Amino acid sequence: MEFSLDNLVRENIKKMTAYSSARHEYSGTASIFLDANENSFGSPLTENYNRYPDPLQLKLKEKISRIKGVPFQNIFLGNGSDEAIDLLFRIFCQPGKDNVIIFPPTYGMYEVCAEMNDIAVKKAPLTSDFQLDLATIEGTIDANTKLIFVCSPNNPTGNSINRNDIEVLLNNFDGLVIVDEAYINYAKQKTLIPELTEYPNLVILQTLSKAWGLAGLRLGMAFAGQPIIDYLNKVKYPYNINTATQQLAIEALGNISSVNNWTKTTVEQKDWLKEELLELTFVETVYPSDANFILVRMKDAKKIYSYLSAKGIIVRDRSSVILCENSLRITIGTPEENKQLIEALKNYTG
Ligand SMILES: *Cc1c(COP(=O)(O)O)cnc(C)c1O
Repeated sequence: MEFSLDNLVRENIKKMTAYSSARHEYSGTASIFLDANENSFGSPLTENYNRYPDPLQLKLKEKISRIKGVPFQNIFLGNGSDEAIDLLFRIFCQPGKDNVIIFPPTYGMYEVCAEMNDIAVKKAPLTSDFQLDLATIEGTIDANTKLIFVCSPNNPTGNSINRNDIEVLLNNFDGLVIVDEAYINYAKQKTLIPELTEYPNLVILQTLSKAWGLAGLRLGMAFAGQPIIDYLNKVKYPYNINTATQQLAIEALGNISSVNNWTKTTVEQKDWLKEELLELTFVETVYPSDANFILVRMKDAKKIYSYLSAKGIIVRDRSSVILCENSLRITIGTPEENKQLIEALKNYTG
């Protein structure tokens, strides 16, 4: 079968008329704006926020376009990647009828968004080395499968998914393959962005929440062919990215050197933590990681989690997650934080 976006989009979404805001309808150089019922006097703040933000965030997209090498028509910006994930469900998946495929253990929001939208989730667990199980996946796809979520590097396992396997999905699946690259800045494996021109069914998600250090701003990016981006823009709330976020993100994207330094230090600290952890008798495996966290398998993960919590050090207990039995997910901290973590673990007596 040929890929056809028209066959994938829900009928109501194709038919609906998008909300047309005042700022959509006028884009010239007027000086008096009496069209949007804003407060014309100003804001009770030093910065003025009395005007609605640019609904398509063009200045910010131009900046992202230059950094990522993607034309602005191929960029969607959301209130975190989570907004793009939710919109993909609402555009492509008919509640009570369609389904999506995920590869556990993986990021929790895919399933949460599916449940919220009454979309069935089919699971094809990763292999024991946390890679795609292509044979099982092939048997899981049916006529109502609309989306497949690949998280690479994967959360919570930390590894990158083999690029060839992702391309097998892209070449053989007629729905959308969403590749979540939230941790791509830390990875040795390269982004799939150059493949966007090759695959009309590819959606890439990135975010400013991790390496860029801006989780509090809430800015997620989706890169895809223009027809997909146009649907995302049609369905989103008109002013989904506020003025402060747009301004601060433009400013932050100009400070790439500090981000690169933190990323480099994080990767070095990850190696150091791995060595130190493997010295501890109760640590069994430190899994390979292309991200800013490591998954660590140990004896009595739950007890160690509680021990660390009592000392004010919070890690993520993943021991009840498939393939992550007795495993904690540990974010790489500053060198000082990592040292304190190792000190605490060295004092653990069981
Ligand atoms: C942290 C994370 C995100 C980030 O989501 P935002 O909504 O952009 O903060 C996305 N995907 C994965 C796999 C993550 O771990």
